[in-house]
Amino acid sequence: MNQPIIIAIDGYSSCGKSTIAKALAKRLNYVFVDTGAMYRAVCFYILRNEIDWQHSSEQEIENTLDNITITFEYNSDSQQSDTYLNGENVEQEIRGKAVSEVVSEISQIKSIRKRMVSLQQKVGVKKGLVMDGRDIGTQVFPNAELKIFMTADPKIRAQRRFSELKLKGKQLTIEEVEENLSTRDYNDTNRKENPLRKASDAIELDNTYLNQEEQLNWALRVLHEKNLVNSHF
Ligand code: C5P
Repeated sequence: MNQPIIIAIDGYSSCGKSTIAKALAKRLNYVFVDTGAMYRAVCFYILRNEIDWQHSSEQEIENTLDNITITFEYNSDSQQSDTYLNGENVEQEIRGKAVSEVVSEISQIKSIRKRMVSLQQKVGVKKGLVMDGRDIGTQVFPNAELKIFMTADPKIRAQRRFSELKLKGKQLTIEEVEENLSTRDYNDTNRKENPLRKASDAIELDNTYLNQEEQLNWALRVLHEKNLVNSHF
């Protein structure tokens, strides 16, 4: 019997990281953590409480973080896990325009990154985990047994995100979505703290022309080739 492992999935915005991460976690019976949702929840708290994050000291931000508890709960209707901020379901709010517009700036704050990374590492103690984000393979779990770095054509990514938001009833144009993705990619790649990078031992997956089933099969094949899971998966 193979030991449970950690699978780290990083990549650009709207590459479908969470989709493949969720599918893998389901198949392997692993825990799935969407770290983007954690940064989004912190961002939402800051916006809602009108915290002047641009002029706050690292210590003030740390004190703010002490008031925040982020949890995830399975929603049987959507069959997804929802994000809770201090016990309140904020899944809708954290995916909205206001958060998307500033999350990649707020995520650059050192004390926020430090706190999130430490929380994420605690979840990984028992392994059996699929985590997606920007710095999982480089900072959070540099020893993860499998690291996947995802890319996809920016136009396709924007189209996918646009369709997803439309389904959720969000009013955004394709141009606004494209602009948001490229700004976030720029901020995430160019920030000082834990920038988005492909870990040297990560395997790249360009999913521009792959559907969800093909991506899952690709990941399962990699896991088998590396002898990281039992043959029945
Ligand atoms: O994954 P998602 O697109 O929801 O993430 C929202 C934002 O959170 C990203 O654009 C990035 O700025 C930040 N993030 C991060 N590190 C992570 C996950 C997300 O900085 N591990």
